[in-house]
Amino acid sequence: MERVQHWIDGKLTAGSSSETSPVHNPATGEQTAELTLATSADVDAAVASARAAADSWSHTSLATRTKVLFAFRELLAAHTDELAALVTSEHGKVLSDAAGEVARGLENVEYACGVANLMKGEFSEQASTGVDVYSIRQPVGVIAGITPFNFPLMVPLWMCANAIACGNAFILKPSEKDPSVSLLLADLWRQAGLPDGVFTVLQGDKVAVDGLLQHPQVDAISFVGSTPIAQYIYETGTKAAKRVQALGGAKNHMMVLPDADLEVAADAAVSAAYGAAGERCMAISVIVAVGSVADPLIDAIKERLPSLRIGPGDQDGSEMGPLITAEHREKVIDYIDRGEQQGAKVVVDGRTGRSENGFFLGCTLLDDVSPENVAYTDEIFGPVLAIVRVDNFDKGLDLINSHQFANGTAIFTRDGGAVRRFQRDVQVGMIGVNVPIPVPVGYYSFGGWKASLFGDTHMYGPEGINFCTRRKVVTSRWPDPGSSKIDLGFPTNADH
Ligand code: NAD
Repeated sequence: MERVQHWIDGKLTAGSSSETSPVHNPATGEQTAELTLATSADVDAAVASARAAADSWSHTSLATRTKVLFAFRELLAAHTDELAALVTSEHGKVLSDAAGEVARGLENVEYACGVANLMKGEFSEQASTGVDVYSIRQPVGVIAGITPFNFPLMVPLWMCANAIACGNAFILKPSEKDPSVSLLLADLWRQAGLPDGVFTVLQGDKVAVDGLLQHPQVDAISFVGSTPIAQYIYETGTKAAKRVQALGGAKNHMMVLPDADLEVAADAAVSAAYGAAGERCMAISVIVAVGSVADPLIDAIKERLPSLRIGPGDQDGSEMGPLITAEHREKVIDYIDRGEQQGAKVVVDGRTGRSENGFFLGCTLLDDVSPENVAYTDEIFGPVLAIVRVDNFDKGLDLINSHQFANGTAIFTRDGGAVRRFQRDVQVGMIGVNVPIPVPVGYYSFGGWKASLFGDTHMYGPEGINFCTRRKVVTSRWPDPGSSKIDLGFPTNADH
């Protein structure tokens, strides 16, 4: 059985533990590898290597760092098929979706290629007579990234491209469910010329995460995953005086107004709800159907579902793959069962699509879902779309704003005035206008509000640069020795 190892100090290492965790191909259900789980001694070795590397990498010129970033970008693009195949083999998403993941991750690397510009400080000449004031950005040191199973390549790239470009060392703790692509990433960084220790992969579970959270030489933690763990990471990391950004779960609503183009809205709803089997933090999981649009919209969605091709991600023509594990599939089924018991009408029942081999499940459409129903209140993270009917725009807006999660949302309409009110008043971090999955481009930043994000800084883009750097402000004077005198007053900036 293949063993997935750590990448420490520029090479693969088995670490000090004999404990492992199984890795499966979700399309077949077969175990394909076993993952080495880090001990606290492995955490220490990874951090020691990263710390030493951070000290020298932070002194490397912007020109050299930019060259490494450009080379890494080219290598990633050249290895798109290999990266996508690896993602599909352990995550299950279809190959075209996995290639899309590579493409969106590339955007973050392309943004980081502009590091020389992004790290510029500010300069104010003559802030006071003969006094100049300027700010400089410096790396924070060692940044650890803890990532979820659903984007095993893109989310690490959200974090590591900016971190490394800004002169930090980066330690990746990938999901234990689909860890292999992290090692290809490490090898591509090596080929791009990154010095040993600047990019590290530590495989493991809670032991590895807790070790990183408590380690005094880890300066910052980037986390993406479920809300309970995000909250734990934020509270534990900040208590240990680290800089932390922790992105959590989601329940993304798509409001459809009666004037929307029905075909466009139905296509968007199906794509955004069932793509990647609903295992996207920006998946649409609730349709807020306003007034008379509900019946025709539900009919249009329902008629599209039988033709969706569910199958192994590496099979030509598959549009939706399996769920990540057998346990997760059971959890999704349990939500459908309880949602039905609590009054939801099962319009399309995906439970009948539960496969013998692999972790496949069909698409489920639930109508008349009440705001109290567990299928509405909780993140399900599977191919389940809930319809909540509301009388008007204001009730829809109240519904969205009352939910605990606030990652993404979308509105489908032809009414510019309604859109303007929506984008102004909705309490959500990322908004789509006739766009169902509004993941911001790499030169904006990604992040939700409320229980979808703990911390102040969103991920990647300009906020990512802020997260990966610390600022200093210098106040400077080159005095004429002849004008020197003692003055015990508090310095002011008035001309004199
Ligand atoms: P998860 O929270 O179970 O795991 C995320 C990471 O935390 C993994 O690396 C895991 O090993 C680690 N972890 C798990 N339990 C832990 C514990 N008790 N203590 C310490 N570390 C622990 O999330 P997941 O199931 O891998 O991913 C799906 C979740 O991620 C969904 O909730 C989804 O919405 C969310 N997600 C959010 C975003 C976003 O940008 N907001 C993006 C992708 C995924």
